[in-house]
Amino acid sequence: MKIAVAGTGYVGLVAGVCFAEVGHMVTCVDVDENKIQLLKSGVSPIYEADLERLMRKNYDEGRIDYTMDYREAYRNADAIFIGVGTPERPDGSANLTYIAAVARQIAESIEKECLVVVKSTVPIGTNDKVEQFINDFLVNDVHVEVASNPEFLAQGSAVRDTLQAARIIIGTESDWAKEMLMKIYEPFHLPIVAVKRRSAEMIKYASNDFLALKISYMNDIANLCELVGADIGEVAQGMSFDSRIGSRFLNAGIGYGGSCFPKDTKALEYLAKQHGYELRTVKAAIDVNKEQKVILYKKACKRLITFHGLKVAVLGLTFKPGTDDLREAPSLDNIPLLLENGADIFAYDPVGTDNFKKLYPEGRNGRGSITYVERPEEALENANLCFIFTEWGSIAALKPYIYQKFMKTPLVYDGRNIYDVNEMRKAGIEYHSIGRRQSF
Ligand code: NAD
Repeated sequence: MKIAVAGTGYVGLVAGVCFAEVGHMVTCVDVDENKIQLLKSGVSPIYEADLERLMRKNYDEGRIDYTMDYREAYRNADAIFIGVGTPERPDGSANLTYIAAVARQIAESIEKECLVVVKSTVPIGTNDKVEQFINDFLVNDVHVEVASNPEFLAQGSAVRDTLQAARIIIGTESDWAKEMLMKIYEPFHLPIVAVKRRSAEMIKYASNDFLALKISYMNDIANLCELVGADIGEVAQGMSFDSRIGSRFLNAGIGYGGSCFPKDTKALEYLAKQHGYELRTVKAAIDVNKEQKVILYKKACKRLITFHGLKVAVLGLTFKPGTDDLREAPSLDNIPLLLENGADIFAYDPVGTDNFKKLYPEGRNGRGSITYVERPEEALENANLCFIFTEWGSIAALKPYIYQKFMKTPLVYDGRNIYDVNEMRKAGIEYHSIGRRQSF
């Protein structure tokens, strides 16, 4: 089939490449000229395992191309997938400006019957409006319908998550749209759940918000564990054997980040409010997460008189390992606080440094300063304290003695519970983590 994809971010690009990989003819469209140039030269603008290899393979075999010329890409496409951003507005609602812009471009361009498929996460009912909007602005008299096909990939494993997805959700209002989507996904050989369009939109939010709730719940229990002398690692292990609970998303830490959970929890809470309903569970998840992100900073404030003039090692900047994405990363909550309070930060991240530098250029910043280093040991050298914000393999691989050997005073705040508390104690490190017995 001839497929166009609007947006070459995490969702659009990975979808486009995977559609090409299973044999469809794909044109990816973006408004960002730099991205299109990079993509044409075989370089992925985002970091995802296996993505570049598949991009190059499918480009060389003629199944994928990249363009800014949306008219040409949409003109005679059988299906157009929309994967543009739906970021959070200051009031928590989803910003649908980019969706509306693509809808208008589609209406101006299509010259034959076409299925428009919204992959972006949009509030329930949005796709009804997108269909109406496109039909209102159609230039040519052609049949067009809108389907919902929410995306469930996780950054860091996006290609694998797409090619081996647990399920594909398709939300349609007609047999024609349903059959079109079934045909597009047939070569993936994955379970397909076909539902109505509004249910599909809700499945996405309900799934993301459930996972956010699970994380916040474990963080809440972890905070209580500290107060009552239980250990969240042992608690989670014990819970994980119950198949009704499952073993994933039970790790306590400094809260969830990324481009999805924070905005999707707020958007659903906002939507509920619009309908006069208070979504108390999701609100609780949001509140817990907000406080969790700075919980270690607060612990450090209690322990130290000042951060001024202290060398602070920061290990990990991205919101999770395997991605260069910084959106809503806990580092973005903590680093400004440390800088405001005069810390001299030495930050290490295997892939996120370039993006972080754009927000916090190297050098003096307010009362403090920030320096980016290539190796974790450089960050630790002579440091007075260390914060661990991301559990990258290269950080988790550091043995406890490394902190003792390199740091001036081995005081470690671990937001990802990477280390065994007893081993850190044995190595002579003052180790603070989340929900576990403190070593000192
Ligand atoms: P992103 O910000 O990485 O990418 C969006 C892209 O769309 C950008 O490259 C932008 O230049 C482009 N764009 C904007 N306007 C355009 C237009 N008119 N035509 C063509 N391209 C245009 O976004 P993302 O992280 O891929 O997320 C996209 C959507 O998918 C969001 O709704 C998000 O909630 C959802 N989602 C994201 C993930 C994830 O892990 N990132 C997972 C599931 C769902």
